[in-house]
Amino acid sequence: MPKSPNSEPLGGKSEESPRPTARKRRSVRAVHEYVDGILAGDRVLLGQAITIVESHLARHREMARQIIEACLPHANRSLRIGITGTPGVGKSTFIESFGQALLEKGQRIAVLAIDPSSQLSRGSILGDKTRMSKLSIDTNAFIRPSPAGRSLGGVARNTRETIILCEAAGYDVLFVETVGVGQSEIAVHSMVDYFLLLLLPGAGDELQGIKRGIVEMADGILINKADGDRLSLARQAKKDYSRALHLFPPKTSGQAVEVLLASALEGKGMVETWNSIQAYAQQAKESGYFEQRRSEQALYWLQESIVGRLLDALKEHEAVQKMKPQIEEAVQNGRMSPFEGAERLLNLFNKSNK
Ligand code: GDP
Repeated sequence: MPKSPNSEPLGGKSEESPRPTARKRRSVRAVHEYVDGILAGDRVLLGQAITIVESHLARHREMARQIIEACLPHANRSLRIGITGTPGVGKSTFIESFGQALLEKGQRIAVLAIDPSSQLSRGSILGDKTRMSKLSIDTNAFIRPSPAGRSLGGVARNTRETIILCEAAGYDVLFVETVGVGQSEIAVHSMVDYFLLLLLPGAGDELQGIKRGIVEMADGILINKADGDRLSLARQAKKDYSRALHLFPPKTSGQAVEVLLASALEGKGMVETWNSIQAYAQQAKESGYFEQRRSEQALYWLQESIVGRLLDALKEHEAVQKMKPQIEEAVQNGRMSPFEGAERLLNLFNKSNK
């Protein structure tokens, strides 16, 4: 295994802050040290390796690639569960509660998040340790907030790579949480085996409020907050949703979407939810759909990675970056078509790449 340059600071995640304070300085280890640490289930080294994967620094990219490559043969073993739902529906309370139920069953769990809004706030609220206080102190759980300062495509790519590292570290169940707004559901759906949509009881025309496309992506629906005064509303909602789901086209998995009731706050419905997800996974494995979905996802991510790498290369290409403002101006003023503009920039890029 090639050695990486030692004693470089690892702390600044962006090019804007290449010099972390002396207190924050940590030395970068060799690739094999991270890999050995990850395979031994060392959460600190796993966390540091993820920081390298998320790094914007060019010198970390080759290291990240080597770490991922070395972890790949040990990946692919977990069950990946996507969690979505509008803010306030109870996603983090559910993960906290459900996660504990799984820990009690001897499962090791990791929680990742896709929250492109964190690029604005420069610090994610999703996956924040204070929101999952019990899970975060359990040595069999690993919680990682959404990477900050990236576009959705970048966040999604990082999360996909982080999944590989977490699997190599031996986590059995991986949660990928999303904010439930915008395009992030599509990204999460494209990297999980089971996509769970959380809804509220008795919120009237819920199915219309939630985008139809998201309901179509769900492998299971969980009506949360089925407690106190809302219990009977929740039961009615379960009937309504189950009926409404018949109007949707059949899933490619060939399995019906189950509607579950739960109270994340009171820890109710957790075992039933786990049984339902396990039954789904079992059947999907038997029918071959589980493998098929993963291989389709791998192809999708190959495509995404090519596009991502090309965009990075364009951003780093001096001549292209120099010419871009002029072309953008011409396109904005209608003097040049967007197609012609793209053609010219790509010609410039291709010329020096031959
Ligand atoms: P998120 O934004 O989807 O992650 O939602 P949170 O997990 O932060 O929960 C939002 C609010 O709903 C919090 O005040 C929770 O305590 C509350 N909540 C979550 N789950 C339940 C539940 O099962 N029952 C009740 N009554 N409240 C809940």
